[in-house]
Amino acid sequence: MEKRELTCIGCPMGCFLTVMLENGEAVSVSGNTCQKGDIYARKEVVDPTRIVTSTVKVSGGDKSRVSVKTNKDIPKNKIFDIMEEINKTSAHAPISIGDVIIRNVAGTGSDIIATGSAEVM
Ligand code: SF4
Repeated sequence: MEKRELTCIGCPMGCFLTVMLENGEAVSVSGNTCQKGDIYARKEVVDPTRIVTSTVKVSGGDKSRVSVKTNKDIPKNKIFDIMEEINKTSAHAPISIGDVIIRNVAGTGSDIIATGSAEVM
């Protein structure tokens, strides 16, 4: 049996979780205060994913940056590739919430969408 220890990111309590694995599969989770921690731990040890949130440069707008996020979970090991694309991107105003800023970011099948807006200056 393999033992993995992690901190739950499901809420600010940050419960300290222990996962026991057998043949690459989670067989038990302890330390969680609620079911969300159990679900998070079982997924995290096998297929860790995240929603990425950041900001993108805006050109010609009333703001210099606009907030963005991935429209679905992306593999955790793609975060740096995604941030590199986000940092290279400049979006043109006007931008509305929900606009696609980057399609298929870093080949993940996820889009970067605006969570804020910017008007033309
Ligand atoms: S296990 Fe539940 S209570 Fe604990 S950090 Fe995760 S979500 Fe919060």
